[in-house]
Amino acid sequence: MTLKINTKVEYSSKRAQRELQFKLLKKALNQAYKSKFYKIKFKQAGVTPKNFKRLEDIQKFPLTSKKEFIEHNMDFLACTPEKVIRLIMTGGTTGKPKMLLLSKKDIESYSIPMIRNFIMANLTQKDVAILLINVGLTSGGIMYGIEAPERFEMLPLQVGLMTDPKTTCELMRRLHATTFLAAAPSMIKFTHEVQRLGFNLKKDFSIRHIISGGAGVSPQMRKSLEKIWGAKWYHAYGSCEGGRMSAECKEHDGYHTFPDDLYVETLSPKTGIPVADGEEGVMTFTTLKREAMPLIRYQGLNDVVRMSTKKCACGRTTPRLWVTGRLEERIVLKGFYKLYLYQIDEAFKRFQGINDYQLVIIDKGDKDYITVQVELEKRKRNEKLKQDLQKAILFSCESLARGIKDKAVGEIKVEFVNIGLLPRSSQGKLKTRLLDKRKLKFIT
Ligand SMILES: [Zn+2]
Repeated sequence: MTLKINTKVEYSSKRAQRELQFKLLKKALNQAYKSKFYKIKFKQAGVTPKNFKRLEDIQKFPLTSKKEFIEHNMDFLACTPEKVIRLIMTGGTTGKPKMLLLSKKDIESYSIPMIRNFIMANLTQKDVAILLINVGLTSGGIMYGIEAPERFEMLPLQVGLMTDPKTTCELMRRLHATTFLAAAPSMIKFTHEVQRLGFNLKKDFSIRHIISGGAGVSPQMRKSLEKIWGAKWYHAYGSCEGGRMSAECKEHDGYHTFPDDLYVETLSPKTGIPVADGEEGVMTFTTLKREAMPLIRYQGLNDVVRMSTKKCACGRTTPRLWVTGRLEERIVLKGFYKLYLYQIDEAFKRFQGINDYQLVIIDKGDKDYITVQVELEKRKRNEKLKQDLQKAILFSCESLARGIKDKAVGEIKVEFVNIGLLPRSSQGKLKTRLLDKRKLKFIT
C-alpha cells in the first residue's frame, strides 16, 4: 500500500502553517536537546527549549554550521544508537565526510517530501524511473532512488552512472521507462552520451518526466533538454542534511517548501537577521521531525535563496524558494551581474576531455575581466574549440552575457593549460576554481 500523503498542509492558510510549525518546532527543539551537541550549544547561548514560546523565539537559538556538523558529527545523535537503521553521507572535499544517521521513523519522514515531489511532477505508480545517480551511501541514491520509490510503489532502475549508456538505453526501451531521477549535471552528460550513440531521444524512448535535484540548471539548458527528450523537467532543491527541502510544481515558479518537514529561514549574510519576503538571504533550516540527528537552524549549505510566502498559481500556499547559488561559488561583477560556478560546469558538460578549470577575475580600468583556464591535453586543443567553449559559457551565463553587452564586463577569455597545472591540494582536489584578484569585490 502506498504511503499515505497528507497534501492538505500544502493548501492550508498561513496561520494554520504557522501554528503547525510552532508545535513541530517545539518538539524538534526538545528532541535536539537530548543530543550532547545541542545540550552544550544551547547552554552556551543561554537558552533551553523552554524559551521557545512563540514562533519568532527561534531566533534566540544559535545557528549550526557545516564545520560543527562535521567536527562533532556523532554528538548530534539524539536517540539511542539501537534506533539507528540507516546511514547516508556526502564525502566532503575536506576528506571528512558528513554523516547523517536515520531511525526507522526518520526514513519515513525523509521519504515524504520526496514522494510529494513525485506527485507534484505528476508521477503515478505506473511510471518507471531510471535512477541516474550512483546509489552508494548518498541521500539521492538510497533515499531518492530506493526508499521513496518503494513507499510510492514505483519501479526504480538503479542503473547509476557506471552502467554503460548502451545498456541503460536497452533497459529504458525494454521497460518503457518514463522518468529520470537525476542530478542536473549527470542528466546533461547522459543526454550527450545517448545522442552520440545515434538515438532520436524523442522517438526512440518514452521519457515524459525529468526530475532533478542537487546542482542548479539554467532555464536555457532545461528547455533544450526538454525538447530533445519530449519531456517536462521538474527541478527540486535538496541536500543530504535537509533531504528533499523543496520542489517545483507544474508552474515551475520557485520550489515549494514542505512546512511540516522543515522550518526555513532566509537570513542576511551580514547581520544574521531574517530578510524581508522575496529578498536574498542565506538558506537556514530546522528539521521538524528528525529523531536521530535533528538539526537546528542549520546554515551549512551556504546557499543564497529568496523565499516568498505569496500563493502560487497552482493553488498551493506553501512558501516558495528560488535558489540563486552557493555563497562561495558566486561572483558578482560590477555589483550587478551575477555568475555561478555551476553555470560554467553546465557549459562544459557537453565537451569531452576537459580535465578541470579555474576562473581568474581581474579588474582593469572600469571593467571586470574573466579568464577561464581550462586543463586540456595538447592534441585536443584548437581555436574552434576555444570559441565553442566561449559561446557555451555565454549561453549558460545569461547575466555575464548581459554584462558584456552593457560594456561593464570585458569579453571572456578561454585559455588552455596543461593537465595538472592548476594548483591542487595534497588530495589532488583543485584548491580553488575561483581566483578573484580584483581590488574591489561586491558581496551583495
Ligand atoms: Zn505551485
